[in-house]
Amino acid sequence: MPSEYIWRNGEFIKWEEATVHVTAHALHYGSSVFEGVRAYATPQGPAVFRLQPHTHRLMNSCKIARIEVPFSEEEINNAIVETIRRNGHESCYVRPLVFRSAGSIGVEGRKNPVEVVIFTIEWGRYLGNEAIDNGVDVQVSSWRRMAPDTFASMAKIGGQYVNSQFVSMEAHDNGFAEGIALDVSGYVSEGAGENLFVIIDNVVYTPGVWQSILSGVTRDSALTILRDLGYSIRYEPVAREMLYIADEMFFTGTAAEITPIRSVDRIPVGEGKPGPVTKAVQKEFFAITSGQKPDPYGWLTLVRQPEAAD
Ligand code: PMP
Repeated sequence: MPSEYIWRNGEFIKWEEATVHVTAHALHYGSSVFEGVRAYATPQGPAVFRLQPHTHRLMNSCKIARIEVPFSEEEINNAIVETIRRNGHESCYVRPLVFRSAGSIGVEGRKNPVEVVIFTIEWGRYLGNEAIDNGVDVQVSSWRRMAPDTFASMAKIGGQYVNSQFVSMEAHDNGFAEGIALDVSGYVSEGAGENLFVIIDNVVYTPGVWQSILSGVTRDSALTILRDLGYSIRYEPVAREMLYIADEMFFTGTAAEITPIRSVDRIPVGEGKPGPVTKAVQKEFFAITSGQKPDPYGWLTLVRQPEAAD
């Protein structure tokens, strides 16, 4: 569901007015950078989950893409909180977007003006309502993630998401909820829009940035929770066949949250239902994000008291 106001270059405009010209550079060449952030409903009102790391990643993505942002990190933080407040959401998904707009039509694009928008939508469970409780069926994609020296996987650059679209569309056409892409060497990388955790014999494995992943904010949150629950975590290449012998697996992502995986390539993961490690992470994650439990890591920024930033 769209909201009423969109923040555009420092001011609020109506949703319908937030249009771009067809010659906008980003439309042709994917020269945009974006974030996905969630605000959760809590007893203290809406709270943004990990605002600061998201804004910081936005700025870093722009730095990598050589896009100069005409706003400071603090201004973007405040604008995100203000956009949620102004639209009266109790919970929502926030999409900050920086893009090269209309000007020159050449590929290079650095002479084109840079625009910044922030919009919000009310968005439920990304992979379906049942996904969080029962898990999803996924496939290993025939599409690989980009090789390290071709694109910049650590940056959330619009054009790079054509790769995620290929992975996702192929999975949907084959009847799966999502696809997992391998990296250029054939090791496991990540889902189209999610990081991956694999649990074998009580050890947690997750691919690292050297495997062409986006370094997810939810991944970082899950790693923190797992560490504090006392699990051993190994950052080492994950072989494809580890997916087939895993006891548990789950996706992390702002949209996907903590989503169990119940089968890969039609092979059941463990007993084919969410296991104890996955459930422990989910429990902690949802207790913190819903405000039912104190926020031990300072992950929530209350929309009605914006000074309490992450
Ligand atoms: N990988 C990709 C390719 C993604 O698009 C996302 C979603 N932003 C993630 C991983 C998960 O990152 P985060 O937890 O920061 O949303």
